[in-house]
Amino acid sequence: PSDIASLDKRMVLAFVTDKGGPTSHVAIVARTMKIPAVVGTGDFSNKVKGGELLIVDGEEGVVVLNPTEEVLSAYRRKKEYEEVIFAELIKEARLPAITIDGARFKVFANVGNLDDVREALRYGAEGIGLLRTEFMYTERKSMPAEEELYETFLEIAKVMEDKPVIVRTLDIGCDKPLPYVRMPEEENPFLGWRGIRLTLDNPQLMKTQLKAVLRVSAHGNFMLMFPMVTTLEEIRKAKELLKEAEDELKSEGTKFKEVKVGTMIETPASALIVDVLAEEVDFFSIGTNDLTQYVMAADRGNAKVSELYNPLHPAVLRIIHRIIEEAHNAGKEVGMCGEMAADPKAIPLLVGMGLDEFSMSPFLIPRAKKIIRSIEKRDAENLVANILSARTLSE
Ligand code: PEP
Ligand code: MG
Repeated sequence: PSDIASLDKRMVLAFVTDKGGPTSHVAIVARTMKIPAVVGTGDFSNKVKGGELLIVDGEEGVVVLNPTEEVLSAYRRKKEYEEVIFAELIKEARLPAITIDGARFKVFANVGNLDDVREALRYGAEGIGLLRTEFMYTERKSMPAEEELYETFLEIAKVMEDKPVIVRTLDIGCDKPLPYVRMPEEENPFLGWRGIRLTLDNPQLMKTQLKAVLRVSAHGNFMLMFPMVTTLEEIRKAKELLKEAEDELKSEGTKFKEVKVGTMIETPASALIVDVLAEEVDFFSIGTNDLTQYVMAADRGNAKVSELYNPLHPAVLRIIHRIIEEAHNAGKEVGMCGEMAADPKAIPLLVGMGLDEFSMSPFLIPRAKKIIRSIEKRDAENLVANILSARTLSE
């Protein structure tokens, strides 16, 4: 993922990988940077020698090697058509996402750096639903200091003014290694030492980040969110570290403001104890990229099982429905920052389930808002009632 993040967007028109899936971090970074990409082709790299012409259709997941003139001009027309549609959508990007019958939904952006934040505002984001802090750590040789992190957050605060920014604590491990944190070889890295598990074991690293967020909160509307949570104890431990971070800032005489604390729901365990976790957090955000892989037991980056990896499968939809219900029963807001939140097929369902906030790659915001503005919440609720009785994906 960090290789993609460091690509020069003006030079790279598109890319194709043999491995991965549509929610691999490589694909997510490409989507955020608006670079067309097709991932998980199997052995496509063996088929190209170099110098050939390729069509890369990131929307459909299609690569055409040495296209005929006819195919080429069909794709040129498709590209032009999409550009026209997008230009139309952008004109309405700043309008709020209110359904025909008056229900309002928040539409936020997933970002990784200041450039993404600027894009997000341009495309009508009302807040940042997920600031992935990983890339402040991965693209360097040593750990960033508190001051550096604070300066980075401060730049974001200046651009966002008083709009909400949800900062996710460092979520490394698996496909996001850190060169300067020793990570043991694991047989099942996605079931291993990642996210909050890793940061709780490295309290100094975690506290440095927490202190930077607390400090910047004096200049903006910042919130904290923990990734890969499975138990109540993890949240309690993370909040103890937050308290220590506050105490340290107090004794240093440094200005800060208290922040709201949320958790991602991206493991089946956390999904099933939302009522319990609600005792300790102010809000929830559903991470469907991971939740889908853990519910379906299908690796999000493995093209071989991509048929199974589908957030629209009844099993995943039922668990999402339950998460939203339990969060609301506890009086807490719930958002979604997995890629599903921008899926045109999923949006009406999520509206019907009453999801409070949708967070996505910046350039997908105008389309998502348009979809929400085009439907009735009442219809969406009926759709949910029907869908929840489906037994298979095709139903
Ligand atoms: C998710 O799992 O849905 C999520 C948003 O986190 P990430 O994609 O960074 O794992
Ligand atoms: Mg995740």
